[in-house]
Amino acid sequence: MARVYNFSAGPSTLPVSVLEKAGAEILDYKGSGQSVMEMSHRSKVFDEIIKDAESLMRELYQIPDNYKVLFLQGGASAQFSAIPLNFMNGSGKADYIITGQWAKKAYQEAQKYGDVKAVASSADKTFSYIPKTKAEDFREDADYVYICLNNTIYGTVYKELPPVGDKVLIADVSSCALSEPLDISKFGVVYFGAQKNVAPAGLVVAIIREDLLGKARDICPVMMDYKIQADADSLYNTPPCWTIYICKLVLDWIKETFGGLEKLKEYNEKKAAVLYDFLDSSEMFKGTVVKEDRSLMNVPFVTDSEELNAKFIKEASAAGFVNLKGHRSVGGMRASIYNAMPIEGVEKLVAFMKKFEEDNK
Ligand SMILES: *Cc1c(COP(=O)(O)O)cnc(C)c1O
Repeated sequence: MARVYNFSAGPSTLPVSVLEKAGAEILDYKGSGQSVMEMSHRSKVFDEIIKDAESLMRELYQIPDNYKVLFLQGGASAQFSAIPLNFMNGSGKADYIITGQWAKKAYQEAQKYGDVKAVASSADKTFSYIPKTKAEDFREDADYVYICLNNTIYGTVYKELPPVGDKVLIADVSSCALSEPLDISKFGVVYFGAQKNVAPAGLVVAIIREDLLGKARDICPVMMDYKIQADADSLYNTPPCWTIYICKLVLDWIKETFGGLEKLKEYNEKKAAVLYDFLDSSEMFKGTVVKEDRSLMNVPFVTDSEELNAKFIKEASAAGFVNLKGHRSVGGMRASIYNAMPIEGVEKLVAFMKKFEEDNK
């Protein structure tokens, strides 16, 4: 059996050792005689899995005690609605920074529920940079400020958080979750869809400061009320048990392989540098993002010809480097190089790109 190098933006590649472990445990999880797919979410054995997942998450992200960690469904997209329904509850105003499609979708959804302002945007240059903001850009009485920390489609990331003062900062970190340390105390809410960096699809993790809970609007659907989910320890209804189990295995893998997120960040930096250094030296391939805002996770790049882009994607795929086609709004190519992509995968991709450049001069 040959595994490819999978550069998909999500769902994305998982660590081989995690897949092997899940395979070995698939018929009989730890002597229970059942697969995790089959067992009650209220059983003692599943309780251990979800508790372990939470405690590993708390340990790796060093989550302060006054934050809840919730395991939810509906994708990151469901949170676009849940966030205004739960947190736009004072002035009814919220400020959004538009750094790409995911931030824009969240902004558009929030408009259904209140006075929502786009305080900055990088739409003018196809979201190829993070717009600078000043403290006075944010409305004094905004209930929260919303950002998308790492922009999956465009390949930008905030290296510094916007100066929101003591306003509640809410961040979608779907595509950079657990890829490097993050000071959770700077945020009111951090959430991520797990299928980018942490697990298969089906799970969203929301990390929420406790004092923000319990103020959802009356019209908030019960499944989107974070307080109800928190009071039920994420077991208000049947959670995505299997995905939570894989999430736990991935967190184990991070801890065992890297010790913590500092070391994982170093690895991710080294890995991304292999590709960025090549892009900076190549005559044919160019990165699309300004250097200071480059993501460690998603790397979009282009040649100056649509024909060459298509030829490259086709030949790369045949050579075992798959899912390199860029998002339709950027074109060209995109290599998503999440935690589970080994550095060898990027080195081999770069070797392939070098040869392609030679052969197509
Ligand atoms: C993929 C992605 C989403 C959408 O996730 P779903 O789980 O499909 O709703 C939202 N935000 C970011 C940053 C993403 O990368």
